[in-house]
Amino acid sequence: MAELIQGREIAANIKKNLNKEIEALKDRHGICPCLCAIEVGQDPASSVYLKAQKKNAEKLGIDYKLHTLDKDIKEQNLIELINQLNDDKNVNGIILQLPVPAHLDAKKIINLINPLKDVEGMHPENLGKIVLNNQGLAPCTACAVMEILKVTGVDLYGKEVVVVGHSEIVGKPLALMLLNKFATTTVCHIGTGERGVLPEHVKKAEILVVAVGKAHLVKGDWVKQGAIVVDVGINRVEDKLVGDVEFDKACERASFITPVPGGVGPVTVAILMQNLVTATKIQLGE
Ligand code: NAP
Repeated sequence: MAELIQGREIAANIKKNLNKEIEALKDRHGICPCLCAIEVGQDPASSVYLKAQKKNAEKLGIDYKLHTLDKDIKEQNLIELINQLNDDKNVNGIILQLPVPAHLDAKKIINLINPLKDVEGMHPENLGKIVLNNQGLAPCTACAVMEILKVTGVDLYGKEVVVVGHSEIVGKPLALMLLNKFATTTVCHIGTGERGVLPEHVKKAEILVVAVGKAHLVKGDWVKQGAIVVDVGINRVEDKLVGDVEFDKACERASFITPVPGGVGPVTVAILMQNLVTATKIQLGE
């Protein structure tokens, strides 16, 4: 049976270190990092994530501010808020919570966030640095998966890794991070699925990461014996949260597996806080 990877424990360790760093920042500069999140309208999934952000930030003594904007806000007004937060020396991190209503161009707005305050690592400058193997602030979930793999002790060099999902926030940056560690990285996406060859690829994976958002898309008997399985997906099925992998059956074959919930999610929030501390230090010239 697979060993469960306890995301909450990994997150707790990250936050223990952050506590020390935040105390040290207070001693050296007399400040505590400030994180500003912007929510446009209200989305149930975003509310859960925003609550987790607030709780984690407050526990770490981070100054957390949530700007909740009307769903019909004009793009120009949102841009003005971003500019104001960019110019405010007391603000160290800015998050535009996605999704935003359809009349707003999310990419255009994210491009206007100061890359040094882009704690979600979504600005093209920060994404580009991953290509150049000069990672700075990088997307939190992709970083969380790398952190989880580190905890398993696996040596990524030359390993067959399959990433299912190629979103800009998870799959693509993660694939580049894995390549930077010399993993043999295969990226599967909708084209792979529609061509009917997803099982074929998954079966080869010594390390499998699934980030799609379709409950139980990956069947347990596709999982290679002894594989490490990281399930990023979060899906609500009959009032329960489940991942993208058929968990019980995958457990019989994997060596390590992340549960949903309690796997990647808590680590992602901890990494967001870590990115904020990194951003604060960069802004202070450290
Ligand atoms: P997304 O932007 O919707 O991306 C999903 C990806 O899966 C796309 O690349 C899509 O390809 C691909 N895909 C769709 N159907 C497929 C199939 N049948 N076979 C193979 N690939 C397929 O989603 P996301 O933002 O990356 O999030 C993915 C999941 O992770 C969601 O459940 C989300 O809630 C969860 N998530 C969890 C965390 C966490 O902290 N735990 C953080 C972020 C996201 P196309 O784009 O080509 O259609």
